[in-house]
Order: sequence, then structure tokens, then C-alpha cells
Amino acid sequence: MSLCTPFFGRLKQWIKKIPRFFFMYNNVEELKSAKKKLEKSYEQLRDFTLALESISSSIVITNSFGNIEYVNAAFEKNMGYKKEEVIGKNSTQLQSANPKSAVYKEIAETIRNGKTWEGELHNQRKDGSLIWEKATISPVYTFDGKFHKFITVKVDITEEIQLRTNVEKSLQILKNVNKKKDEFISIASHELKTPLSIIKGYSSLLLERKGENLTEEQRSFLQQIFSNSSHLITLVKDMLDLSKLEFGQMSFHATNIQLTEVLQDVITQFTFVAQEKGIRLNIDIKPECSVFADPQKLSQVMSNLMSNAIKFTSQSGSVSLKAQIWKKNNKYILFSVSDTGIGIPQNKLSEIFEKFVQVDNHLQREAGGTGLGLSIVKGFIRAMGGDIWVESTLGEGSEFFFTLPRSS
Ligand code: ADP
Repeated sequence: MSLCTPFFGRLKQWIKKIPRFFFMYNNVEELKSAKKKLEKSYEQLRDFTLALESISSSIVITNSFGNIEYVNAAFEKNMGYKKEEVIGKNSTQLQSANPKSAVYKEIAETIRNGKTWEGELHNQRKDGSLIWEKATISPVYTFDGKFHKFITVKVDITEEIQLRTNVEKSLQILKNVNKKKDEFISIASHELKTPLSIIKGYSSLLLERKGENLTEEQRSFLQQIFSNSSHLITLVKDMLDLSKLEFGQMSFHATNIQLTEVLQDVITQFTFVAQEKGIRLNIDIKPECSVFADPQKLSQVMSNLMSNAIKFTSQSGSVSLKAQIWKKNNKYILFSVSDTGIGIPQNKLSEIFEKFVQVDNHLQREAGGTGLGLSIVKGFIRAMGGDIWVESTLGEGSEFFFTLPRSS
């Protein structure tokens, strides 16, 4: 305000003296009207200046050589300079420790071409400390289109930048920890797979061949060793699959597949499982359905969805597998595996494809499972160019849909 007050004082005095110049006007009315206009202009100018002085953004006005002609109160506060210390100085003298950096070249280039530059600047305060500012530097033109001045509007974003840097650092640390964790899981899984397979193999052999020499208690111990090692092997295999997917190390051998051929084994296997549980299995695969996919991965996807459907459906329920050309996009085959089972709560539907997510219910507790199957299924389908989603009503059943590209 200090710079403006004398100016306004002088301007007001000058307006008061206007009657002295009455000889310039033809009559008193003209003179009065001119005075009124001047007073109005004065008020407007005062209001604009007060507004510039009140806002919290720094304002700097420079001439075509970059010499500073005006700075507002926020500039004084943010940069620690008094107006009289910077007026007349070149704006480059207030730039950061490295005024030759690429950003200043970019600014010079942009404004020389009459365009507005927007970006972040690392400037130096009077006390030498550094300040991050979000700046807009624009050329100002007169009403008849001639270049007049440059106006710079700057907002202090030092705290925001510090926060951003901290978040980026934390994110990097988290990424590294996550990578280490995945590496650990991958190594641990490899190391576990062989001994577990041996335990499972021998316990199965003992149960089959030497069963007759075992007491009931020994048989039950062996049975537990066998089923727990089977469960652990599934978990280890799932973890290995997931870590391969996450590291991009899973190999896919896509080829043109006739569905009825490739899915035959899976269908036979689950017809038997469904029968044992008293569940009706409906299969409807349209003959024209063939996809471009990895046959082994497709079988794994189908096994997982069918086994879940049967696992979460009680006796006398039904499970259906369908495949048809997708009406929405005929370049894809749409698969669906539906059941009349317990269903999935709405609030779990969006998480169900994430690792280790399981819905807590009695069937889940009975059947066990790893909570990894659906994330692997999703990873496989996405890698083969398709997508997967689920619709479900609690207590009525679920329907898993997935798409795969049709064979060419
Ligand atoms: P899990 O090995 O536990 O079956 P999945 O990743 O295959 O792991 O499934 C995750 C969870 O999604 C399951 O534990 C279950 O709670 C739920 N789920 C999957 N399929 C069905 C289904 N057909 N009906 C009801 N719940 C299901």
C-alpha cells in the first residue's frame, strides 16, 4: 500500500485543481462532466489496486525487459522483500539459485511468443530460503492489441510440494517392501513345493498300500497329513502362480481352441463331483464357440469357477456352464458359470477378485480354500485379452461371467 498511497494522494489533489484548467472546456457543464469521469476512473483504479493488495497470491508486473514495476503486499510477505527493494530490479535477479535452468528458458520462449506460461517455480526468498510457487505469467495487451506488460500471479505451494515429495518417497519405500515380500513368497513357495509333494506322496502311498497294517488312529493321523499337505500344495501352487503373474513371468501359449474339446476333461471331472454332492450340472456350449487362448490356463480358470460354484451350492441345487458369442461384441465369446448357492454379499462383490479375500460363512469355513483362486483367474483372463465380473444375490446364487477373444 505504501507505494500507492502517495500516488492516490497526488491524483486526488490533481482532480481538485481541475477547475483551473476550465479554459480547456467550452462550458462549465463540459468541465463538470470531465471531472466526474476522472473521479470515477480514480475510484475504479483505487478499487482495483486495493483488490490486488488484498489477495493472498503474489502479483508482479514487469515491463518488456523484465524490470519490475509493481509488486503487491502478498509478494512482500511471501518473498520477504519490501516493494522499494525490488521495483526497478530485473525479475531474473529474484529467481532461484539456478536462473539458467531449463524452466526459465521455457518461460522466456513462451512469453516471447505472446503465450501464457503456467508451471511450478523454485524461487529464492530474501533470506535465501527456497519457496515453491505455482505461477502464471501472461502478457498484457492494450485495448488496441499492443503489448503492454507482463503480469505474474504466484501461489505458495511449498507445503504441498513437501507433502507430495513425502508421499512419493513413502510410495517408493512401500513398492520396494512389496517387491521384497513378493520375492520372498516366490522363493519360499519354491522351497516348500518339493518337501510338501514328498510328504503328500508318501502319506498317500502309506494309506493305499500299507493301510491294512495300520491302526485306526495311525490311519487318521496319516489322513490328516495327506489332506493338510494337499491343502498346502494348493496354496503354494496358487502363490507361485500369483507371483509369476505379478512379475510378468507367467508364460501363455495361446492357440485356436474348440471349447467342447478342451473343456471335456473339466466337464467330466465336475460331472462326477456334482453327482456326488447331489447337484444338477447343466452344460450349454454353443458349437460355434472357439477362442484364441492358452488351453491349460482356460481349463484352470474353468476348474476354479466350477469348483467354487459346486463348493458354495448345497445339495439339490444346480450349477450351469454356458458359452456363446457375446451379443455386445461378437469378437468375443461370453462364458458364464452360475449356481443356485449361498451368493455373495453386495459389499464384497468388488473385492472378490483381490488376493486373500474370502466371505466369512459356514460353507467357507467347512471347505477351506486359499482366497487366491479368483485373483489368479482374473490375472489369466486379463492376460489372454478378456475380462471377468460377477453378479450375485445373497441366498439365491451367483453368476460369474468372463470373455475371451474368438479364434480368427
Ligand atoms: P477360495 O479358495 O477361498 O475359494 P477364491 O478366490 O476362489 O478363493 O474365492 C474367493 C471367495 O469368493 C471365496 O472364498 C468365497 O467366499 C467367494 N466365492 C467365490 N465363488 C463363489 C460362489 N460361486 N458362490 C459364493 N461365494 C463365492
